[in-house]
Amino acid sequence: MTQRQLFLQHVAQTSDAPLMLEMNRAEGIYIYDVEGRAYIDLISGINVSILGHCHPNVVKAIQEQAAKYMHLMVYGEFVYTPQVQLAKLLINQLPESLDSVYFVNSGTEAIEGALKLAKRYTGRTEMIGFKNAYHGSTHGAMSVMGGEFFLRNYRPLLPDVRHLTFNCWEGLEQISERTACVLVEPIQGEAGILLPKDGFLQYLRNRCTEVGAMLIFDEIQTGYGRTGTMFAFEQYQIVPDILVLAKGMGGGIPIGAFVASKEMMDCFTNRPVLGHITTFGGNPVCCAAGLAVLQTLLNTNLIQQVPEKERLFRELLVHPAIKEVRGKGLMLTLDFGDTETGQAVISACIKQGIITDWFLFADECLRITPPLIIEEAEIREACSLVLEAIESVMI
Ligand code: PMP
Repeated sequence: MTQRQLFLQHVAQTSDAPLMLEMNRAEGIYIYDVEGRAYIDLISGINVSILGHCHPNVVKAIQEQAAKYMHLMVYGEFVYTPQVQLAKLLINQLPESLDSVYFVNSGTEAIEGALKLAKRYTGRTEMIGFKNAYHGSTHGAMSVMGGEFFLRNYRPLLPDVRHLTFNCWEGLEQISERTACVLVEPIQGEAGILLPKDGFLQYLRNRCTEVGAMLIFDEIQTGYGRTGTMFAFEQYQIVPDILVLAKGMGGGIPIGAFVASKEMMDCFTNRPVLGHITTFGGNPVCCAAGLAVLQTLLNTNLIQQVPEKERLFRELLVHPAIKEVRGKGLMLTLDFGDTETGQAVISACIKQGIITDWFLFADECLRITPPLIIEEAEIREACSLVLEAIESVMI
C-alpha cells in the first residue's frame, strides 16, 4: 500500500476530503513534497510556524535540550531551566498583573485551564463566549465557542454558558455578578478575521471589571507578533485577567499556556491540591523551542516589520473578485463573498503551489497568515500566484 492509502486506512480522518499532500521537508516559507515540488506556506500551518519552517534557532534549541534531558517528571514538580526561563521571558513582555504562567500542550488545553481557573477564583459558574468564536475541540472549549454546526451532535455540553454577539454592545449587559468569565478572541479568527469595533473590547473590559467577571483573551491566533505587536491586547489599551497562548508559541512544537496573576494561579494549589495537572505540559524540549522562538522575535525586527508587510499584501492583492481584504498585520483574509468562489480559488491556489485554507465559520474567505519571516520578494511571488489562481477560476 502507498503512504496515502495507509494514511486513509489507519490514520483517523477528520473529513472526507483531506488535502493529501505528501510532504518531505520544509524550510523558511517553503514546504517540499515527495516529488520535490515547492509550496509556499501562506498560513503557517494555521498560525503556527511564526518563524517559518525549521528555523535554525528553534532546531538548535530542540536538539540541544533533547540531548540533555526530555521528560523527567509530571508538570509542577521539578525545576526545568528552559521552562523557568521561558516563563520569565514571557512575563517580562506582559503587564505586572500577568506574572504566572501555566504551561500546557495545546490551545484547547490552555482554554480548559483558563476556564477552570476563572471558575475556581471567582467561585461562580456562568461562562460567556461569543458567536462564531473558536476555542478548541475539547468539551469545555467547545461549550464556550459559538457555532451550532460543530456543536449540535456533541450535546450535552457544559451548562451555564451564554453566547453573545461580537461587536454588539447591548449584549454585554448580560455579563453579571453571576459570571465567572468572558472568553473572547480580540480579533475573531475562525469567524473570517473580524476586527473588534472601536471601543468594543474596552467596553467589555469595563463591564467585566464592574461585575467582577474574569476577562479571558484567547490570543492563540493573534499572539506572538501576528498582528504587529507581541500580543493583540496591547493595541486596545486594556489588560485581560487571563491570557491564553499556543500555536506560534512553539514555532512548530506543541506548547500552550495560560497566564494570570500569581494570586489567581495559586488557587490550583489548594482545596483541592493539584487543581489542574498535566503530564507533558511544560515539557523541557517544548519550552526550549518556545524560548528560542521568543528570543528570536525579541532579537529581530520581525514584529516591527509586520505593518509594512501587511501594506504590501494589501497593495498587491487587488482583483474585482476580491470583495474585501480584511484583518490586521499578517492575519489577513481575502473575502470572495460566496462559498463557491472562495473554495474554487483556494483549490486553485493549492494547484499553483500556495498552501492556504478557509475558516471554520467563513468558507468564502481565503486565509493569509504567513510566517512572519516572509520577505518582500516572497510576498510578491505569493501574491502573483494567488492572483493567477483567481484568474484561473474566473474563466
Ligand atoms: N483558539 C483559537 C482562537 C484557535 O484558532 C484555536 C485553533 N485553531 C484554538 C483555540 C485551539 O487550539 P488547538 O487546536 O491547539 O487546541
